[in-house]
Amino acid sequence: MHEPRVNDGGTVGPVDGLQVPRFAGHSTFARLPRREDVEAFDVAVVGVPFDSGVTYRPGARFGPSHIRQGSRLLRPYNPALDVSPFAGVQVVDAGDIAANPFSIEDALEQIEAGVRELSADGRNVVLLGGDHTVTLPALRALKAQHGPIALVHFDAHLDTWDTYFDAPFTHGTPFRRAWQEGLLDADHTMHVGIRGSLYSRDDLADDASMGFSIVPARDLDRLGADGVVERVRERVGDAPVYISIDIDVLDPGFAPGTGTPEAGGLTSRELLEMVRGFAGAHVVGADVVEVSPPYDHAEITAIAAANLAYEYCSVFAWNRR
Ligand code: MN
Ligand code: MN
Repeated sequence: MHEPRVNDGGTVGPVDGLQVPRFAGHSTFARLPRREDVEAFDVAVVGVPFDSGVTYRPGARFGPSHIRQGSRLLRPYNPALDVSPFAGVQVVDAGDIAANPFSIEDALEQIEAGVRELSADGRNVVLLGGDHTVTLPALRALKAQHGPIALVHFDAHLDTWDTYFDAPFTHGTPFRRAWQEGLLDADHTMHVGIRGSLYSRDDLADDASMGFSIVPARDLDRLGADGVVERVRERVGDAPVYISIDIDVLDPGFAPGTGTPEAGGLTSRELLEMVRGFAGAHVVGADVVEVSPPYDHAEITAIAAANLAYEYCSVFAWNRR
């Protein structure tokens, strides 16, 4: 069926929500065209349905389709940044990267190859996870193109642990591996939203030895979103930035649908504003991971994740205009 689209600036936009109801039609992200529907693209939104690296509640393999469902209400104009993220910039839904659920090593290679291909020639990528393991191959792909990456990591957890049950590649270890592999620009990396209990005091010392600076969740009320943005922008400078959002950085009240929830987190409003604060920074890629639909209610988590991905697209459009 031919679907009327919002076209602007020579790009193919979302299906027009004033002509086709938002609950009808294909469930691409934000009702954008599929990659195969256009000749070329600037920004790819891609699903990574992989959760074989989780340590507690599973289910994030169903995250991409759930986030797409939660994205149906997104509209073409973003007043917060005064930008139309899908006009003048060709954004596509590139489908899902097929990753082997029985071999994490194979999956890492498949995801890296997928991101490498999508991000070639300076294109931007937005990954919809999947568990946090998927960020490691994304960083491998982007480091090959841009050099060491300034990672800004929003999460309740450090994710710089060494192994779980002797396994080196899990959703709790991607950033130690990334640091060991030289993927990170250690002077420009940071965690935001860290909270909750740890195995020991050594966890923090270990993390600091890898160069990360931390804005813990409990500093949010004192700093506010603007204060956090100021610290982040100062930290990353002009370096190529990758933004990784583990949805559990939000309070469980704002993101119940996730695998390892921790009390005392950020609000959706705070986090959305922080993402907008990257407008003008050299962001090369971004992800939102750890959305687990079986624990979600009323699409609360999916809607938060979809709006975060929309803000990523808005930052890319703002930077490209
Ligand atoms: Mn986490
Ligand atoms: Mn994580």
